[in-house]
Amino acid sequence: MTDIKSMNLGELTAYLTENGFEKFRAKQVLSWIKQDVADFDGMTNLPQKLREFLKADAYLACADIVRVQRSKIDDTVKYLFRLYDGEYVEGVLMQYHHGRTMCISSQVGCKMGCTFCATGKSGFSRSLTASEMIAQIRSAELDCGERISNVVLMGMGEPFDNYDNVIRFLKLVSSEDSLHIGMRHITVSTCGIVPRIKDFADLELQCGLSVSLHAPNDEARSRTMPVNRRYPIREVMDASRYYVKKTNRRITFEYALIDGENDSDAVARELAQLLKGFLCHVNLIPVNNVTGAGYRKSSIQRQQAFVNILSAAGINATVRRTLGSDIDASCGQLKRNFMKGDV
Ligand code: SAH
Ligand code: SF4
Repeated sequence: MTDIKSMNLGELTAYLTENGFEKFRAKQVLSWIKQDVADFDGMTNLPQKLREFLKADAYLACADIVRVQRSKIDDTVKYLFRLYDGEYVEGVLMQYHHGRTMCISSQVGCKMGCTFCATGKSGFSRSLTASEMIAQIRSAELDCGERISNVVLMGMGEPFDNYDNVIRFLKLVSSEDSLHIGMRHITVSTCGIVPRIKDFADLELQCGLSVSLHAPNDEARSRTMPVNRRYPIREVMDASRYYVKKTNRRITFEYALIDGENDSDAVARELAQLLKGFLCHVNLIPVNNVTGAGYRKSSIQRQQAFVNILSAAGINATVRRTLGSDIDASCGQLKRNFMKGDV
C-alpha cells in the first residue's frame, strides 16, 4: 500500500500521473490531507475513478489518540497513539513560555537497550513512517486546539536507526505542503550512531541536534549504553565536532544524572575535560524513574556540584526541569507495552 501522506507535492504528482490521472489532482489531494480528511471518500472533488484507485492502492496514515493523560503539576499532556496497524506509540505535549513543544516518537520501541530507559527495556517492533511522525503532531494540535511551534524527536525510538524516514519527516514537516514548522524549531536526539551523525551534518539542515552522552569515558558509557561498544566516545565526539563545523550550530549533550553512577566530582571533571573548547550545551537530566532499572536521581546537592564544576571549566550546563513526572511523561519513561486495560 502506498503511504501518500509521506509524499511531497512532486512525488504525489508523479505517483498520480504515472497511474493515469491529471497532474492538478495532486494539489487537490494534498489540500484534503491538510484538512485532516479521514478517508478517500471524503475527498469529494476527486472523480470516483481516482477515489477508487486510491482506496485500492494507498492509505492515509494516522496516529489516533486513544488515551490522554494530563499532568496535575504542570501543563504537560501525554498521548497514547494508535497507528494504522494497531501498534502504539506515545507522545508528549509540553507548554513552555515560548510556545508548545511536542515530543514525538520515531519508532515503536527501540533496539538500543540503554539500561536507564523504559523504551529500551520494552523491545522493538518497527520504525515509523514520516507521515506517522507528522500525524502525532497534528493529532495533538487538534486535541489542544493550538498550533505546535516546536518539535523534538525525543520520544520512543532512536531517530538515526530510522534515518531515511526521519529525514523525510524533517523535510516534509518544515515545508508549506505540510505543517510548515521551521527546521530551527526541530531537534533530533541520538544515542550516537556515528555514521548517521556525519550524514546528517552533510545535509546542513539547520535542525537542532542533541547527543545523549551520559558518561565521559567508554567504560562507564558502555555500562549503561550498549551502543557505545559499537561507536565509542572518541568517534561520537569526532562526529559531533564535524556537525558543529558543517552547520555552525551548537550541539546539546544530554546527560542523565544517576546517583552513584555518573555524578561524582571526578566524573564531572572528566566530562569538563572531554568537552573543553567545544561549541556545546550540557543538558543535565536528573534520571527519571524507570521500573526495574534500579537507578535513583542524584541529590540536589550533587546536581549543583556537577553544574558548578562544568561551569567553572567554562562549559555551559543547566539542569533540565522535569515535566509531567506524575504521568510518566518524562525523558525515558515512554514505553511500548501497554496493559490491555490501559486503552
Ligand atoms: N533515542 C534517542 C532519543 C530518545 S530518548 C536518544 O537516546 O537520544 C530522549 C532522551 O532521554 C535521551 O537523551 C535519553 O538518553 C534520555 N533518557 C532516557 N531515559 C532516561 C531516564 N530514565 N531519565 C532521564 N533521561 C533519560
Ligand atoms: Fe533508545 Fe534513546 Fe531509550 Fe537509548 S535512551 S533505549 S537510544 S530511546
